[in-house]
Amino acid sequence: MAERFDVVIVGGGIVGLATARAVHRRRPDLSIAILEKERTVGTHQSGHNSGVVHSGVYYRPGTLKAKLCLEGRKGLLAYAAEHEVPVRAVGKLIVATRPREVPTLDELADRARRNGVDSVRRLTAEELQDRLPGIAGLGALQVPTAAITDYPALASSLAATLQRDGVAILTDQRLESAAREPHGWQLSTYGRELRTGFVINCAGLHADLVAGTMGSRPPVQIVPVRGDFYKLSARFRTQVPCLVYPVPDPNVPFLGVHLTPTVGGDVLAGPNAAIALSREGYRPGQWDLRQLGRMMAYRGTLGLARGYGSFGAREWLRSWCPAEFLSAIRRMWPSTTPDDLMSRTSGVRAQAVRPDGSMEDDFVFLRGEEALHVLNAPSPAATASFAIAERIADESGFSGGVNDPNTRSIGGEGAPE
Ligand SMILES: Cc1cc2nc3c(=O)[nH]c(=O)nc-3n(C[C@H](O)[C@H](O)[C@H](O)COP(=O)(O)OP(=O)(O)OC[C@H]3O[C@@H](n4cnc5c(N)ncnc54)[C@H](O)[C@@H]3O)c2cc1C
Repeated sequence: MAERFDVVIVGGGIVGLATARAVHRRRPDLSIAILEKERTVGTHQSGHNSGVVHSGVYYRPGTLKAKLCLEGRKGLLAYAAEHEVPVRAVGKLIVATRPREVPTLDELADRARRNGVDSVRRLTAEELQDRLPGIAGLGALQVPTAAITDYPALASSLAATLQRDGVAILTDQRLESAAREPHGWQLSTYGRELRTGFVINCAGLHADLVAGTMGSRPPVQIVPVRGDFYKLSARFRTQVPCLVYPVPDPNVPFLGVHLTPTVGGDVLAGPNAAIALSREGYRPGQWDLRQLGRMMAYRGTLGLARGYGSFGAREWLRSWCPAEFLSAIRRMWPSTTPDDLMSRTSGVRAQAVRPDGSMEDDFVFLRGEEALHVLNAPSPAATASFAIAERIADESGFSGGVNDPNTRSIGGEGAPE
């Protein structure tokens, strides 16, 4: 016999967990379950990222990324303080290493102010040297509000809080199929049947596939983009006290190989941005025939190859050739040697690509029948997760408290569209 929940969230990453929290806080009367295919929450993007709590500098004013990054970081920092999730306010320097990048620092400073990040400050080459001997740069933008955290610890904390509040977290449960019912859905995993009035798809790297399983036709396809990190040798622990980023390439939604102190005390260099041949392809060369076939059959793949060919080739090379990776670090930190590159780890980003081959540069939500699909939630979605969750709750019709006449009624008439 099928178990019954008012709301089922597919995906126990940071976005799915924060969404469960937002819906529960608005509607504590509803029964909520999270379906997660892995044994623990936060296993994929949320557990393999740079650990940065972004400030909101980079994003085009007016976009969801710009708005939700600022709102989300406030919610995240408040939650972290209340629940003892580690956060360190280390600050960030965005460093110009080529003359043509210097004017971009001013553009970024202007963008930051328009986004409501008022504390940014331009540094000259001399000021930069004074702050960070060892760096090579023609100038920098200082972003004091940037911070670092431990996203896996945040995911575990959210899961524990949700379980205490009665949300069911069903791990080792991959959504395999979904059938429409008059007032909701019947969902199947291997060995479990669930019935629900509403589904929220937060499946990250598999979000487009889950949407397809539920009969929606996503306007984008997820392309996996692997980012490799090297842990740097111990000397960097004292030499790099803050985040050090290059000036980003304005043509791609990635920030470039940067130096990142972790809350555990290490310093990481990365991530690059290499198209992966499998959605969970954490190792270069790892591929999946079915996923590869799907990628090749997609119209956007050709356009992607055309548009990002030379960028993609360089990033791909960085995955295979440590010397190429090293050259990206050396642009900012010239004294780095091959011996400074210690162990390597990787994460895979879920990047939505449009049919014309361009990369989607904002968060994307798609309404389905008694469902909402999160189709693009790449960086800074971990930072923004608490605000993304509120947006999802709004878009799903969980607009207010139990007594709000506009709020969704589950499993019957009156659900707002
Ligand atoms: C290398 C890298 C660096 C990054 N750096 C930062 C950063 O510093 N700061 C920042 O803010 N953001 C960063 N990001 C982005 C951030 O990590 C992601 O935007 C965020 O984690 C997305 O969370 P999510 O819950 O949508 O996805 P995920 O964490 O991937 O969660 C999706 C979950 O859905 C589950 N799932 C998938 N299919 C199914 C199914 N059929 N049934 C059941 N479960 C399913 C998966 O197992 C997974 O646990 C980075 C990402 C990467 C990869």
